[in-house]
Amino acid sequence: MSRRRFPCLGLVLALTASSLAASAVAQGGEPAGASTGGGFAPPPACRYARTVLGGDPLHAHADLLLDTEFGLPPTPDPPDLVSVRAAGFDSDHLVREIVLSDLSALKRDARAAGLALDVRSAYRSFTYQEQVFAYWVSRLGEAQALRVSARPGHSEHQLGTAVDFGSRGGPAPWDEEDWGRSQEGAWLAENAYRYGFLLSYPAGEEERTCYDYEPWHFRWVGRDRASAVQAEGVPLRVWLWRHMPPR
Ligand SMILES: [Zn+2]
Repeated sequence: MSRRRFPCLGLVLALTASSLAASAVAQGGEPAGASTGGGFAPPPACRYARTVLGGDPLHAHADLLLDTEFGLPPTPDPPDLVSVRAAGFDSDHLVREIVLSDLSALKRDARAAGLALDVRSAYRSFTYQEQVFAYWVSRLGEAQALRVSARPGHSEHQLGTAVDFGSRGGPAPWDEEDWGRSQEGAWLAENAYRYGFLLSYPAGEEERTCYDYEPWHFRWVGRDRASAVQAEGVPLRVWLWRHMPPR
């Protein structure tokens, strides 16, 4: 595995649209790379910008910090996409094949616990994310859409390793008051990391994750990485900034 994770940040394009600037989360943050008394530097304050990451998202998927600033260029569909039906779900959303074994185990154990998990979204291309973001803008207005939906290029779903779960037969989890309190949501919050999945946007962490609480959204990083992040007790964005910052 290459130790050189982000050889090139490539295109850096700060968005100047006044609507985005007006929506930026203004808060104090350490300069990138700053160290605090031998401790870890916190991630920078969330801002709406577009810094395109270099590197290969197919191989470095678990190392990529995607937020409201750092994102991916338009990328081809991963060549190893498979339907989540292969993991026992009743839908045909797509994930990369590398996720399948852990996703199957998660589904199997959730079912054994009497839970009816389903998958509401998984892989989304850059182009599809444009439609998703436009939908949320039309539904909520741009300022709120920015809090709940990633702009194209900034979604973890483009990696093919992120999954939005739901309760089978229930409403969309994002239309519920707090799906994290459902049996399925609570089980995932407790157990998903054992299968290599992390809750990217936990409650009360908006200033560090850059997005509102999303109890349904999990990103697969593999079991070893998930355990390491879990052990430090911080959101993935914070962990990645500590251990493999994109600059
Ligand atoms: Zn999601």
